[in-house]
Amino acid sequence: MARIVMKFGGTSMAGTERIRRVANIVRRQQAAGHEVAVVVSAMAGETDRLVGFCREANALYDPAEYDVVVASGEQVTSGLLALTLQAMGCKARSWLGWQLPIRTDDAHAKARIEEIDSEALIASMASGEIAVIPGFQGMAPSGRVTTLGRGGSDTSAVAVAAAVKADRCDIYTDVDGVYTTDPRIVAKARKLPLVTYEEMLELASVGSKVLQTRSVSLAMKEGVRVQVLSSFIDESAPPADDLPGTMIVSDEELEGSDMERQLITGIAADKNEAKVTLTRVPDRPGAVASIFSPLAEANINVDMIIQNVAKGKGETDVTFTAPKADLVRTLAILEDRKDKIGYYRMISDDKVAKISVVGVGMRSHAGVASTMFKTLADRGINIQAISTSEIKVSVLIDEDETELAVRVLHTAYGMDAAA
Ligand code: ADP
Ligand code: ASP
Ligand code: MG
Repeated sequence: MARIVMKFGGTSMAGTERIRRVANIVRRQQAAGHEVAVVVSAMAGETDRLVGFCREANALYDPAEYDVVVASGEQVTSGLLALTLQAMGCKARSWLGWQLPIRTDDAHAKARIEEIDSEALIASMASGEIAVIPGFQGMAPSGRVTTLGRGGSDTSAVAVAAAVKADRCDIYTDVDGVYTTDPRIVAKARKLPLVTYEEMLELASVGSKVLQTRSVSLAMKEGVRVQVLSSFIDESAPPADDLPGTMIVSDEELEGSDMERQLITGIAADKNEAKVTLTRVPDRPGAVASIFSPLAEANINVDMIIQNVAKGKGETDVTFTAPKADLVRTLAILEDRKDKIGYYRMISDDKVAKISVVGVGMRSHAGVASTMFKTLADRGINIQAISTSEIKVSVLIDEDETELAVRVLHTAYGMDAAA
């Protein structure tokens, strides 16, 4: 007998018919002799709809009230799944974030889980009851509802798995594993049977939304075994216990497998960032800090930063990217400080995409970046910004060229599946 946490994403939960499929998968997992807890997302599109209402109500919305609105999507699906399981004769109940509770900090709209009281959950699972938990939500120290940032149900699932010391955390989604790139963009993408925590972390952080970044760092820290697999399966599909999906493993586990290490593990695209340029910023100590300190205080994560060479007159242009969701706040903060910073104009562009290639093989091989630049240049794709880490190279390009860029890079690095 094992203890398993199962998580189902929005597409899997979209409507009562799909929830019935999910209930069947859960019931079968329990019938295989395991204790199970289930974490669910809101129905596909629901969170976007709720975010839209918040924006309409108040463009500069209070994140605490935003959380009240957007957390409701998961409340609905957790109740519906418990009801469906009960209709099948299973013992099941929902546990809302504040009921367990799932304790978070008070960073509304992007809260971090600090602790989960697992006692009630463990007792419920041990009694043969299926515990259904809405993902994405938690409770601030003040008692108010919080949410964990978009895609946060993955993190809820991994946190629950760590809290109940689960043997495995299965993340069920609408693809059957982690691929070399989004299989919806590149038909020739290849499924990876294994991927290391480190590579998955980097892939997720640069836009492979198959797993939320924080869920991967938490799994790595807590040593949670995570599998990504499809919920769109029929009775004849191999059971999850046979590990049909992609397993996220440690470096040692990968070394011990017979999988050959490739130079590049994957390519990711991220259309969720916007570019902001401040022109003619005074070129003196403290100027850059006066731009980025207030953004950091407002909890806005700035990513790529470029400072141009000063143009003689002691002035320079500063360009950076920040999440599109924070663009309105970013512009408002910098507009407010225009005189203090002393820039001339502020220009923003939200029609950009960040394309990244990731692979631990990069550590020992030169030439990954130059292949990227040359491949994009050959297609006439202009690079607006570049950033690198030990195992990643990212470039910022025009959003309209995203699909083309990912496809040509996938081919250039020899990653295409055989036809
Ligand atoms: P869920 O609603 O189940 O959480 P998401 O939409 O958040 O699902 O994540 C699954 C999607 O991630 C897939 O449909 C796929 O389009 C996308 N995706 C992006 N990169 C990858 C990748 N490298 N491998 C698999 N899927 C990916
Ligand atoms: N429903 C939330 C979202 O769409 C959380 C999740 O699905 O993981 O971002
Ligand atoms: Mg997701």
